[in-house]
Formats: sequence, C-alpha cells, structure tokens
Amino acid sequence: MTAEKRWSVKLSDIQAVLLECKDCHSTNGFPPQRWGSIPYGCPNCSNARMPENSLEHKTLEAFRVGLLDAIKHAAVLKFEIRFEFDGSTETGS
Ligand SMILES: [Zn+2]
Repeated sequence: MTAEKRWSVKLSDIQAVLLECKDCHSTNGFPPQRWGSIPYGCPNCSNARMPENSLEHKTLEAFRVGLLDAIKHAAVLKFEIRFEFDGSTETGS
C-alpha cells in the first residue's frame, strides 16, 4: 500500500533558507528576515564559487529580495502563499 502525503508551509512557517554546497554538503542556514546577502561561495571549501555579478548570483539575490518582500507584505495580501511538498511514503502491503 502506498500512502500519499503532501504537506505545505506558509511563508511565516519558514525558519531558515538552507544553502547546501553540492561539493562538500556543508549547509548554511539563513533566517529569512535576517538574510542579508547571498554568499559568493561555500565557506567550507573553495570548489563552489559564484563570481560577483554572475547570472547565478544575481538570480539568487533576486530570489532573496523577492522572498523578503513577500514575507514583509504577506499580512496585507488577500491570499496565503504556501509551498507544497511531496511527503509520499511506502508502507507495508
Ligand atoms: Zn563546499
């Protein structure tokens, strides 16, 4: 039997945005309200670097600013922004 589970979170439920290095898997967590900037690279290894003004860095910076603006203005929106996640699990037959 397969049980399908989906769960969702509101913007206000987000405790941290996690940036995990694809090379060394170290993770940096940033509470959204205090997320001041996007790092240019992994603080643990020198393999994961994003050059200043690269498209990747600008894209992440736009995401950060958009997320902060959405959180800031969420109270006056006429709808709730939620993120849905797949939580499917396999159980016995
Ligand atoms: Zn790393």
